[in-house]
Amino acid sequence: MAEELTFDPGRHPRPTVVDTPATRAVAADPEIARLSQDELISRIRDLKRKREAVILSHNYEIGPIQDIADFVGDSLQLSQQAAATDAPLIVFCGVHFMAETAAILSPEKKVLIPDPMAGCSLADTVTAEQVRKWRREHPDHVIVAYVNTSAAVKAEVDYCCTSSNAAQVVRAVPEGKEILFLPDMFLGLWLRATTGRKIHLWMGECHVHAGIRPEDVRARMDEHPAAHLLLHPECGCVSQCMTALADGELPKDRTHILSTGGMVKHVRTCKERTDLIGTEVGMIHRLRKENPDKEYVPLRADAICEYMKTITLPKLYRSLRDMVYEVRVEEPIASRARRAIDRMMENA
Ligand code: SF4
Repeated sequence: MAEELTFDPGRHPRPTVVDTPATRAVAADPEIARLSQDELISRIRDLKRKREAVILSHNYEIGPIQDIADFVGDSLQLSQQAAATDAPLIVFCGVHFMAETAAILSPEKKVLIPDPMAGCSLADTVTAEQVRKWRREHPDHVIVAYVNTSAAVKAEVDYCCTSSNAAQVVRAVPEGKEILFLPDMFLGLWLRATTGRKIHLWMGECHVHAGIRPEDVRARMDEHPAAHLLLHPECGCVSQCMTALADGELPKDRTHILSTGGMVKHVRTCKERTDLIGTEVGMIHRLRKENPDKEYVPLRADAICEYMKTITLPKLYRSLRDMVYEVRVEEPIASRARRAIDRMMENA
């Protein structure tokens, strides 16, 4: 796919994941229909104990899911938890590729996702066949994939990374080797600039992060001139913001390009009252719990991942009650994907 660094907001219409089979199942379930939120929470806790399950939640999940989870984190932290847990059952409150990664890392455990239609617009931009074709076109290059890819795609690549360790992983690629980076072009652009490596980009993007534009940064900075700016490297404004930083148009001491895990660390110590948050808005629930004394302003209030939000308490309860939906990755894809994932974990 040729490089074409433009963003068309109409290219990815917002996905519809409201009417999924799991949504219909909980709506038609007579027991679930009469449970209050408190009763659901109590039953989830009881079932979790009974089944010896661990509940993992991504930072972008809705507040009640984050609150009931045993662990909340970014993709890398959740992978580490999935690999380390002794629990025989993992209920993964995140999107499907994350549950696949957990299943690959813990093949002896059962991994459930409350709604398997929780997908990812970024992961959907590349298929295993497209990766094989890209490799045929560049046989001497090393392929690095962001973790937001299917297991079938991970099976075709050399290294995996998350936004929190992408630069370390790229630096671990032998010097002199050119890199094919997929699927997020904005993260790839940031990696080019920060590592200085020769990186060819796949032109994929996340519809949530790509929609966060330079004009959003300018507007929020004008409204909150003393605030710190926390930007996820998937954001569509990240390359322009790096240029603005170099030109002195953005304050060096108050502009931070961070993974969601990096944002959590930042707010634990930052004394400035206001942070502008450039990522999915679910992150703000987590940041408020970390440091409730600060004010968090989203760069865009509509930066909402519909896929993450399709995981709800009724679906989590049904998942634990009925042991649905199991996520399995078959061989040989699991073993081949594991090589790339292990390299991601080694560079954590
Ligand atoms: S926020 Fe974007 S990258 Fe993250 S899961 Fe949703 S669609 Fe995928």
